[in-house]
Amino acid sequence: MKRYKTEEITVKKETLYKVLCDECKKDISESEDNLYFEVQTGHSLWGNDSYESNKEKDYCSKECLRIGFEKYALDAYKTDRFEIECVRK
Ligand SMILES: [Zn+2]
Repeated sequence: MKRYKTEEITVKKETLYKVLCDECKKDISESEDNLYFEVQTGHSLWGNDSYESNKEKDYCSKECLRIGFEKYALDAYKTDRFEIECVRK
């Protein structure tokens, strides 16, 4: 014979509710512009562990994207990448 008891389980779920510009910290999700830039950066210096160098950034405007790229380019190595995608909200 099997007996069951009822347990309450709390599940925590992560949901995206806000996108902030990595440069000026403006709330992109609240702004009137319906386009912003999603950037993936990373390098291949660490062999198989290189995926750990992957980072995602968001920029609200071309101006913030330009500033973000300039900062990135200052420390960039030969194998670095900076992939830009224009995203519609
Ligand atoms: Zn910005």
